[in-house]
Amino acid sequence: MPKATETVLEINLTSLEHNYNYLRSRIKATTKFLAVVKAFAYGSDAVKIAEKLAHNGVDYLAVAYANEGVEIRNAGIKIPILVLHPVPANFDVLVQYRLEPSIYSRRMLALFTEHLKETETENYPIHLKFNTGLNRLGFLEDELDLVTDVINESKTVKVASVFSHLAASEDHNEKEFTENQIRRFKKVILRIDQQLGYAPIKHLLNTSGLLNYPEAQFDMVRSGIGIYGFGNDEKYNKHLKPIASLKTIISQIHHLEPNESIGYNRGFTASERKTVATLPIGHADGIGRIYGNQKGFVFIKDTKALILGNTCMDMIMVDVTHINCKEGDEVIVFNEIHTADSLATAADTISYELITGISQRVKRRYIEK
Ligand SMILES: *Cc1c(COP(=O)(O)O)cnc(C)c1O
Repeated sequence: MPKATETVLEINLTSLEHNYNYLRSRIKATTKFLAVVKAFAYGSDAVKIAEKLAHNGVDYLAVAYANEGVEIRNAGIKIPILVLHPVPANFDVLVQYRLEPSIYSRRMLALFTEHLKETETENYPIHLKFNTGLNRLGFLEDELDLVTDVINESKTVKVASVFSHLAASEDHNEKEFTENQIRRFKKVILRIDQQLGYAPIKHLLNTSGLLNYPEAQFDMVRSGIGIYGFGNDEKYNKHLKPIASLKTIISQIHHLEPNESIGYNRGFTASERKTVATLPIGHADGIGRIYGNQKGFVFIKDTKALILGNTCMDMIMVDVTHINCKEGDEVIVFNEIHTADSLATAADTISYELITGISQRVKRRYIEK
C-alpha cells in the first residue's frame, strides 16, 4: 500500500464484501439484507458502498433523508431505497426518485397519501414504522386499525414492509427489554397481513440485533455498522474488518522546553522537554475537541502518540518525544489494527460518531485487495 502523503480516508471494498458475507452467513439464506448507507455510508461514501453491495446482491438500501437517496439514484443504482426519516417538505423529491418513505405517524400517513392523490399515484411503496420501546419514531400498536383503514381506503400506497427498531440490541444487560420489544413487534405483525390483505416484509434487527437475536430476523435485517466492520462486541469484531483507515502525515516537528505551552489557550504546558508533531487534521475533518488533551491518540511507526492540548480546526499536535520520526512520515489515526472503536472509546464516545464525522474535506481513496 502506498504511504499517505496527505490526510486520506482509505476505504477497503474487499473488507466491505467480507463483512457483508460474514453477516449474511449469520442469517438464513432466505432472509433479505438491507444495507444502511445513511450519513455517507457511515462516513465513507454512499455511492461506492451501494454500488459494491448491489453488485453482491444486497436486497435493499436505507438512508436517513431524501437527498441521500437522490445521490444514490443519480449514480444509476436501481435497487429499492428506504428513507428512514422523511419529512413532508421532500415528498415530491421522494416520489420523483422512487424513494420509499418510512411512515411513522398518522400525520405523515395523511400528508403522504394526500400528496400521492394530487399526483394521481397508486400503490406507492411505503414502510410502516412501529414504536416498540425506543420512543423515537413510530406508530403505537393500538394505532394499527386506524392505519390499515386509511391505507385500505386510499389505494395510493402499498405497504412494502413493516418494521421497528431495537433500543439496546448490543447490551446484554438489556436482554429482557429487547425480548419485550420483539414480543411487541410480533403482536403488530400478527394482525397486519390479514388487515391489509397481503404480506409485507417484516424486519426488526440492526447489526447487533442480527448478531445477538437471530431468532428475530423475520424476513429482512438492516445492517449499518456491521458492514463497515464493527460488531459492538469483541466476539464479533474478530470476524469483521473495519473498512476505513484514516491516515495523515507529520507536517512539522517542534521541541518544547519545560514550561513552554502548545496550541490555543495554552492547552498543554510541558513539564519536561517534549518533541511534538503537528498533523494536518483537525475538528473540521472530524477529529473533535473531545479527542484533545491527551484523550485521543494516533500511531506513528506503530507507536501511540497522544494528542496534546486543544484540537484546532485544521490541525492536532501529538507527543512524539518517544518516537523516532521525521517530518513527512505517515501517521495512522485509525485502521484495521488501531481501530476507530478503540479511539472513540478513549474519548468516551462510540465508533459510529467518530466514523460518520469524518468530513467531506478528507479525500477518499478506494482499495480492493
Ligand atoms: C441506523 C439504523 C440502522 C443501522 O443500525 P446499525 O447499528 O448501524 O446496524 C438500522 N435501523 C434503523 C432504523 C436505523 O436508523
